[in-house]
Amino acid sequence: MSNSFAALPPAFYTRLSPQGLNAPRLLHANEDAAALIGLAPEVLYTQAFLDVFSGRAPLPGGDTLAAVYSGHQFGIWAGQLGDGRAHLLGEVDGPSGPWELQLKGAGMTPYSRMGDGRAVLRSSVREYLASEAMHGLRIPTTRALALVASDDPVMRETVETAAIVTRMSPSFVRFGSFEHWAARRQPEMVQTLADYIIDHFYPECRGPRPGEKDAPHAPLVRLLDAVTARTARLMADWQCVGFCHGVMNTDNMSILGLTLDYGPYGFMDGFRLDHVCNHSDTEGRYAWNRQPSVALWNLYRLAGSLNSVVQDADALKAVLDGYEGIFTRAFHDGMAAKLGLEAWRAEDEGLLDDLLKLMHEQRADFTLAFRRLSSAVRGASQPFLDMFIDREAARAWLQRLLQRHEAVPRDAALRAGAMDKVNPLYVLRNHLAELAIRAASQGDAAVIDDLLRVLRDPYTERPEYARYAGLPPDWASDLEVSCSS
Ligand code: AMP
Ligand code: MG
Repeated sequence: MSNSFAALPPAFYTRLSPQGLNAPRLLHANEDAAALIGLAPEVLYTQAFLDVFSGRAPLPGGDTLAAVYSGHQFGIWAGQLGDGRAHLLGEVDGPSGPWELQLKGAGMTPYSRMGDGRAVLRSSVREYLASEAMHGLRIPTTRALALVASDDPVMRETVETAAIVTRMSPSFVRFGSFEHWAARRQPEMVQTLADYIIDHFYPECRGPRPGEKDAPHAPLVRLLDAVTARTARLMADWQCVGFCHGVMNTDNMSILGLTLDYGPYGFMDGFRLDHVCNHSDTEGRYAWNRQPSVALWNLYRLAGSLNSVVQDADALKAVLDGYEGIFTRAFHDGMAAKLGLEAWRAEDEGLLDDLLKLMHEQRADFTLAFRRLSSAVRGASQPFLDMFIDREAARAWLQRLLQRHEAVPRDAALRAGAMDKVNPLYVLRNHLAELAIRAASQGDAAVIDDLLRVLRDPYTERPEYARYAGLPPDWASDLEVSCSS
């Protein structure tokens, strides 16, 4: 255990104890995540494990605390926020490096504001599944170690029950962690936090690169550069799988470029360019097609905070000017692979735009429309065309794609196989999460187990799980997800 965050000055957090759940039950434990911290599978099913991850016993060697941060919520400065229902238990040195373990839903902290410090089973199942689904899609994300349930009542729109999900991340520091100190006009704390992040996670930002001359605050400019690049690539990853985060507030933006804080997220079913997954987002600020520009807006807030130390807005602005190029390149590379192209060409822009437009107009299913392109490459166009109401329009577009393929001839089976490796068949659709939640609220983790099996390898078709590969059933059209969690 190294507990490096706890070694920062005390103003960064409050030490405290979690308030554990009553009569907790281990609903699910993640053996893959456990392996990252060197925990053998059998340890996960012990009383000692349940005691720690239900918040009833301290993590041996840990140093429990809640961190302070601030942030912009829906574009408006919200002031101090902080871990209102998260307890950082400590940092474990695993075979894959250090991981912080954090309970979400283990009671109130000094940062709870009006909240009760709890999380409901529904949102905990969603976070648990989503982080593993993201990992299966090879998209940077926090992980989830355990899901513990209880009958303790929690008041939301109705009375629900409490749960705790244990998250793992090398760090939970957010853009808002920096904004906090800049807003309080304490640049020395911005510097301290930046030094911590650079030394632990971005050591390459410390020294001058070969041939670069070093200004006093160059490491912070390089840090922004590195975070900008990771964030831009993360946005491209999200866009390529039809993922909407739902609450891209600056306090939910990871300084490590990870997908962080799964609340009212959604993997799209029927495609809409301006799809909004969060029912509470009435303005559509975080619509699918706005995510890349919102991330840049958030990076501007981070840059502004770093500038309290750097005092060179032009240097930071120059870094942010690189965002669009990095995002666009990553998005084009990702989309080229999805379309079965060896490399993106400028003229492919029209091809992609027309596909997205067609999918948008006809609400084609995002996941299946892309997945079924490989069937067309293998010679069976119908599965793809079936995703559209106007099949003639879809057929015309498909002809253009197949013609484009001829520009770089390749064995059809090889091309189709490569496409299947980047177009998932299984994503965590809302209705699938809902099925898992319904079973989990009866104490049954079998759906979670089954879903994890396909979501960990979402590219490989498994006929026995065909029920997870289909379009949402009619009842799913009533599902709404909001900030309530
Ligand atoms: P979110 O939008 O879920 O990332 O949360 C924004 C802020 O509200 C964070 O500071 C959370 O810790 C806090 N928060 C959310 N739900 C609760 C809750 N039930 N109790 C205490 N704090 C909460
Ligand atoms: Mg949050």
